[in-house]
Amino acid sequence: MTQQRYMVIDVSLCHDCNNCFIACKDEHVMNKWLPYADEQPRHGHRWMNIQRKERGQYPRIDCAFLPMPCQHCENAPCVKDFPDCVVKRDDGVVLIDPVKSKGNKAIVDSCPHGAIYWNDEEEIPQKCTFCAHLLDDGWSVPRCAHSCPTGAIRFYTLEKDAFDSLKAEQKLEAYRDETGRSPHVYYKNLYRYEKSFIAGGLLKGGDCAEGVKVSLKGDAAAPEQTTNFFGDFKFDALEPGTYTIVADGKDVKTVTIDASLNVGSIEI
Ligand code: SF4
Ligand code: SF4
Repeated sequence: MTQQRYMVIDVSLCHDCNNCFIACKDEHVMNKWLPYADEQPRHGHRWMNIQRKERGQYPRIDCAFLPMPCQHCENAPCVKDFPDCVVKRDDGVVLIDPVKSKGNKAIVDSCPHGAIYWNDEEEIPQKCTFCAHLLDDGWSVPRCAHSCPTGAIRFYTLEKDAFDSLKAEQKLEAYRDETGRSPHVYYKNLYRYEKSFIAGGLLKGGDCAEGVKVSLKGDAAAPEQTTNFFGDFKFDALEPGTYTIVADGKDVKTVTIDASLNVGSIEI
């Protein structure tokens, strides 16, 4: 089997600098890379779309960034619905034919991730190409991965089995793939965007309670931890549900969450 192209994005390393977005613009605005893609409009298109989410409440908050290009799905709805206009190459890259797709705005709605944009001027649907014109010219990575200063975006050309091993080793996850689209873009530390935390601080006699053992009842996956210098604790990667905070062996607070929660200070 032909080696496959894969992208891996580590959510915990992305700090929203937008270098990847700008590199994409630099490569595709005012450049026609036919037959791969016509030029990208200067405004309106986000082929690398960095989504943002704030979690928690002041002062216990964090922010996660989720770079979202076309996921180059194995079982792509866009390919299935428009086989004459959208092709999946042998190396897994999904491309929209800029000539055959002209005037076909319905292709935009075939993507469940909103990764396809409509070019009003040229009347064509467009999206991330994994910079296939560069890959075919010998580049090992697309421009976004090349420009990421933190190494949040990695790009691989591997046999499927080798990537499956990497996926298992690094605990990589697909983004919202309930229907089995099987993307070629995978995420690390996706919990930073998709799951919730419970955070708070413990006090003893009004002072920060450092070094206290804290655990959560209700989620076996949350390991016990010890409060820091400020008496703070934070349990992350939680599903919605009801949890009881246990400090020094005693139940101190029960909360029900469907989003991240700062429980404030708890006197123990
Ligand atoms: S270049 Fe890297 S760190 Fe910057 S926004 Fe893109 S993925 Fe995030
Ligand atoms: S993410 Fe959307 S545009 Fe990309 S291959 Fe999947 S369905 Fe098609």
